[in-house]
Amino acid sequence: MKAQRTRSQERILILLKSLNRSISAQDLYIELRNREQDMGLATVYRSLEALKLQGEVQVRTLANGESVYSSLKSDRHHLTCVNCGVSLPIDECPVHDLEKQLEKSHTFKVYYHTLEFFGLCQKCS
Ligand SMILES: [Zn+2]
Ligand SMILES: [Zn+2]
Repeated sequence: MKAQRTRSQERILILLKSLNRSISAQDLYIELRNREQDMGLATVYRSLEALKLQGEVQVRTLANGESVYSSLKSDRHHLTCVNCGVSLPIDECPVHDLEKQLEKSHTFKVYYHTLEFFGLCQKCS
């Protein structure tokens, strides 16, 4: 099932790829405006939702409950400080092989996975 992407979805996807980090819908809305690619916040949310279903973006929830989106290219995991909320990306992915295994054993197309570590950063401990 390959859905046709709308122009808003394309713009958002290009922006997410160029940012190379996770961003909230709210900030994405501002980034688009800074680039003179204004679209309504509702459109931003709708487009993100559609891209998520297409397996193009991944969503993760921060410690403060905010959802942030990133392009699927980045299989990044984070160490998140429960005190100050700093989020440090780590370069390893320990579950890549597991993902392949699960796809096989469950006949399930895995779009992405999330894996996060919570604790105290150097500054806070
Ligand atoms: Zn901290
Ligand atoms: Zn991973």
